[in-house]
Amino acid sequence: MSNIKKPQISERRKFLTNMTHNVGLGLMGGLVWAGYADKAKSSPLTLRPPAALDEEDFLRACIKCGLCAEACVNRSSNIDKETGKPRPSTLKMAKAKDDVTIGTPFFKPQDVPCYMCDDIPCVPVCPTGALNLASVTNAKGDLDFKMMEMGIAVVEPNACIAFWGIQCDACYRVCPLMNEAITLEYGRNERTGKHAFLKPAINMDVCTGCGLCEQACVTEKPAIFIQPREVALGYPGDHYVKGWDKKDQERVVNRDAKDVTTTTKRSEQDVSDYLNEGVDFE
Ligand code: SF4
Ligand code: SF4
Repeated sequence: MSNIKKPQISERRKFLTNMTHNVGLGLMGGLVWAGYADKAKSSPLTLRPPAALDEEDFLRACIKCGLCAEACVNRSSNIDKETGKPRPSTLKMAKAKDDVTIGTPFFKPQDVPCYMCDDIPCVPVCPTGALNLASVTNAKGDLDFKMMEMGIAVVEPNACIAFWGIQCDACYRVCPLMNEAITLEYGRNERTGKHAFLKPAINMDVCTGCGLCEQACVTEKPAIFIQPREVALGYPGDHYVKGWDKKDQERVVNRDAKDVTTTTKRSEQDVSDYLNEGVDFE
């Protein structure tokens, strides 16, 4: 006869209750985690390290190893000479509280901007190409911080005191590409008749999005701030395809016919110039 004691009815009931409870908790945990993971997707305003691939490709390539952030915090220019310890790093690896995919590197210029290091130490250490070395290497084969494209500075004219006629050139002076990425545009102040406006203007082709201007801005909420390039330049939406851009055209050529859904039946009538109907051009 077996020595194993069979559970009594009450014990069996307890066992089944516990099991149901645990499975329930597991399912609940799964649901909570799914919701959490969804929430942990990056905000479209996330700024990635220098030379990062486009967001979708970047997320596919980044293995969340943290080598870029480690190189950034330990770069020699970041070591405090008095304490011998590193100061806070530009690049951070996202935690649950951040509005960024967990474990991926990002930076917030208002906390710590990118100092556009000459040797860009965060990029060559990337083992997967999520940070694309070629995109910051010039024709001579040298690393070139001017080729970084982390984002673009955007000025909010209603908040920038230079647009009120107050003299402020904090962003202009701190820019590592002074007079190239940010210029000051002179204008007459009609309100006072005596003073001049010197308004900051961004050169989108030169600005790298380092964020030194955002950190230096004197207004309570920075009137100049960095946005990812596609946001700052106005993302037109997937349904617009540039006929003159071969890469963009490939999106249509490579598209599977089953993915194309047309809900509006094409009219068989002649094209009419309805906007100009009834207009007399004489
Ligand atoms: S280039 Fe910017 S992100 Fe890279 S190591 Fe230097 S400060 Fe950090
Ligand atoms: S080094 Fe490259 S793969 Fe590693 S966390 Fe940074 S971007 Fe991702």
